[in-house]
Amino acid sequence: MSVFSSVQKWVEFFDLHYRSEVARLAVEYPDLKSLQVSFYDVERFDPDLAEELLKSPDSVLRDAEDALVDIGERKGARLLNAHVRVVELPMRVAIRDIRSDHIGTLIAVEGLIRKATEVRPKIVRAVFHCPYEHETAVLQGEKFVEPSECDDPDCSRKKGPFQLSREKSTFVDAQKVRVQESPENLRGGEQPQTLDVLVSDDLTGMVAPGDRVILTGVLRSYQRTTYNTKSTFFDLVLDCVSIQIEDKEFEDIELTPEDIDAIKELASDPDIYKRVTQSISPSIYGYDEVKDAISLQLMGGVAKELPDGSRIRGDIHILLIGDPGIAKSQLLRYTVKLAPRGIYTSGRSSTSAGLTATAVKDEFGDGRWTLEAGALVLADKGMAGIDEMDKMRSEDRSAIHEAMEQQTISVAKAGIMATLQSRCSLLGAANPKYGRFDRYDNIAKQINMPPALLSRFDLIFILTDQPSIERDSQISEHILKAHYAGELEMQRRHLIGSEITREDVASVMDVITPQIEPELLRKYIAYAKRNIYPLMSDEARAKLIDFYIGLRRQGEDPDSPVPVTARQLEALVRLAEASARIRLSNSITLDDVDRVIRIVTTSLEQVMKDPETGMLDADIISVGTSKSQRDKIHTIMSIIRELAEKYDGLAPRDEVVALGEEKGINKEKVEEMLSRLKSSGEVYEPTHGYVKLT
Ligand code: ADP
Ligand code: MG
Repeated sequence: MSVFSSVQKWVEFFDLHYRSEVARLAVEYPDLKSLQVSFYDVERFDPDLAEELLKSPDSVLRDAEDALVDIGERKGARLLNAHVRVVELPMRVAIRDIRSDHIGTLIAVEGLIRKATEVRPKIVRAVFHCPYEHETAVLQGEKFVEPSECDDPDCSRKKGPFQLSREKSTFVDAQKVRVQESPENLRGGEQPQTLDVLVSDDLTGMVAPGDRVILTGVLRSYQRTTYNTKSTFFDLVLDCVSIQIEDKEFEDIELTPEDIDAIKELASDPDIYKRVTQSISPSIYGYDEVKDAISLQLMGGVAKELPDGSRIRGDIHILLIGDPGIAKSQLLRYTVKLAPRGIYTSGRSSTSAGLTATAVKDEFGDGRWTLEAGALVLADKGMAGIDEMDKMRSEDRSAIHEAMEQQTISVAKAGIMATLQSRCSLLGAANPKYGRFDRYDNIAKQINMPPALLSRFDLIFILTDQPSIERDSQISEHILKAHYAGELEMQRRHLIGSEITREDVASVMDVITPQIEPELLRKYIAYAKRNIYPLMSDEARAKLIDFYIGLRRQGEDPDSPVPVTARQLEALVRLAEASARIRLSNSITLDDVDRVIRIVTTSLEQVMKDPETGMLDADIISVGTSKSQRDKIHTIMSIIRELAEKYDGLAPRDEVVALGEEKGINKEKVEEMLSRLKSSGEVYEPTHGYVKLT
């Protein structure tokens, strides 16, 4: 029972501190159903009452809500179902630290909404009729309860069967959500823990998967049952009292004045680009151009909201495709740990939500549909590292286009229609389809990803593992040094009487020590993203346009492929913005443009060179076929057409091959084109040895 709390006390409190808010509630009720009360105000008013609110929230909140009813009566309003929503508790409990001591108390937890069910009515007060039409009301909890006997003293029967009266019963909107620990509070590689939360009435429908929230509520426990047997273990749920949605970017990274001094000092270093690059996965040898690109990705371009309401993404997407065992996964993991709000996952991810989002009907929702956020939603305003991207599920494959370009994910399934935000940059890794890369074949064919998806990456790098004595010995030296440093450290720590000192270890560690401490680099990134919004200088713009036009010019020649689309121009702009951010500069200079052109050229040459002509060709990515291949396909198709005219509709395969060879396309190529045309449905083979156009 409450000692300090009483209805009278709360009336006093509201009259003193929330007079105008309560007056507004009285006028707008029931469109407005809640009064938000800051815990600090209660504490200022009466510390004992505040303490009691934390310890016995159920009775204290009941007093507070009864007080609202009393004040309402004074004003002629019936505030029977108004709620007091307490916000701003002084402490937050980490989800993994919740213990049985917290049961029954008011706590606040912070995290990321992982799942949310649809909003559906829930019965809270059920009214029943006995066979003689007497009424009995039963307050409902988690499980539906029928009356044991009729309430009416005059009832001669007393027993059921009872009939539920829907009209007389009271319902409330209800929703269940699951909140998970924010990734930045996890210590390296820990699995995030979750807490289920019951939300009701006007709090329903407020949050969507991917939202960052602070939830305040009363922790309750429910006995677990397995196959109808009651267990001695109890499950926890939070009975939600208030929801606050956090919307600020990077509020989770706090910068002290000393941090800012250190950041500014770093920025003034003329070698800053090198230092950032060398701070990315220093234990991995080489890949300087990839690491340069990743430094730009970490800073990001500027997301723009245009006056017409449209939005252009600033996030930079990078894809690494390459042979197995060349440190792709390693690089991904390191980068994601460095990035604020980074999430690492595999395309083959085991969670049901996958990379984007799904709607499912499972036990979590008790038969209701549940919307669950996948990696790209959980990484909103951060970075998603997706390994083994070629193995992603088909649902993700279609949803990921929207996620990358519009940065939203729409789900429309059964009762659920939702648009979730996925404003994150994506660093993907993929293996070639046939195990290893063939440099002389079309890359779109060698990766298990549709061209439309590939074209959404700002940069694609192809990493091949070609034996070369020089590079191999450098890599192995580097790897062995890293291992040796590790061995020394382990021996220092575990071998009793070891004479190895910390200094010995430190000197060997040098090779693999990042130039900028990861903690500081993270802060640097957060600072740059928060404070730097660079503008393109005129000369920089002219140079970018020149470069772009230069690439496009190859398209004027009727024999050459159409290179580079406007997507690449946008990528150039984003990268140039990121380059200025690395210097913490608000102006994009010629140097930025040069740097970006160098990186983009490396990527384009790896990816878009038509292996047959040596020219750049964006169509290799965006359409999946290069110009020279397209020409050959046209040639083959016109051969088939001519032969069909000659032979009553059916073209003999042998003759197609022979005529193809006459036009300079070898037999193997013709066969390959034919099978490609067949799989795309443009050609079919009605009888063996004869082909026909559809
Ligand atoms: P992938 O994902 O490309 O198949 P991994 O990231 O699993 O490859 O790398 C395999 C191992 O090889 C890792 O332990 C990595 O450290 C090592 N490795 C490969 N290439 C390098 C390199 N260039 N420098 C240092 N270590 C490397
Ligand atoms: Mg791997």
